[in-house]
Amino acid sequence: MNIHEYQAKEILKDFGAPVSNGFVIFNPQELVKNLNKLKSEKLVVKAQIHAGGRGKAGGVKLVGRPEIFSEVKKMFGKVLVTHQTGPQGKKVKKVYIQEAYDIEKEFYLSCLVDRESSKIAFISSTEGGVDIESVAKNNPEKILTTKIDLKESLTHEDIQKIIKIFSLDINQKKDAENLVNAMFNTLISKDASLIEINPLVITKQKKLICLDAKMNF
Ligand code: ADP
Ligand code: MG
Repeated sequence: MNIHEYQAKEILKDFGAPVSNGFVIFNPQELVKNLNKLKSEKLVVKAQIHAGGRGKAGGVKLVGRPEIFSEVKKMFGKVLVTHQTGPQGKKVKKVYIQEAYDIEKEFYLSCLVDRESSKIAFISSTEGGVDIESVAKNNPEKILTTKIDLKESLTHEDIQKIIKIFSLDINQKKDAENLVNAMFNTLISKDASLIEINPLVITKQKKLICLDAKMNF
């Protein structure tokens, strides 16, 4: 089973992770009464379907406030075809409205249960926002895997190993520690098999934020 991006982000936020601000709507009429919850001038309209690759398929749109109503209406009518939906595509029935962030860097961070070794593996890469499979194939040196024994909680050293590749400043490190702990604690307490953040970004304002999240059980 997997859940939608907005549900994965809600769980991670409850566990203390820095995630992007937003709200989900189930029809275009719900937009008006929620819009003042978000402060940014630009917004992102994101289709909530059970498949990745939405960006390339037209399921992620950056818009200004005046255009958002027409963009949301269009999004609800779309059938998205991505590399994960099959040729018939998936109809958009839920739309997530997000604050738009000025992105400086896009990273990749995931954790999963490695059944073979009974360990938890964290995978970090500075090449985020793209298919991690193609990074693994073309730039394997840009992927770091950190295996952790099953235990109650992570140590400071575990976390430093996982995030080292990102070369973060002090504030970003604090946020990244909260994120790694949130991912680890979610994986264990919710019995998830995979949690993937792609992209994890550094904004031009130097903030570290999860822009996309995926969770499998
Ligand atoms: P998918 O993985 O299904 O294509 P993402 O949520 O990863 O969907 O979005 C694709 C890309 O759109 C991201 O890599 C990022 O560059 C951009 N993006 C997504 N959300 C935002 C946001 N809130 N602000 C700015 N850019 C975003
Ligand atoms: Mg993504």
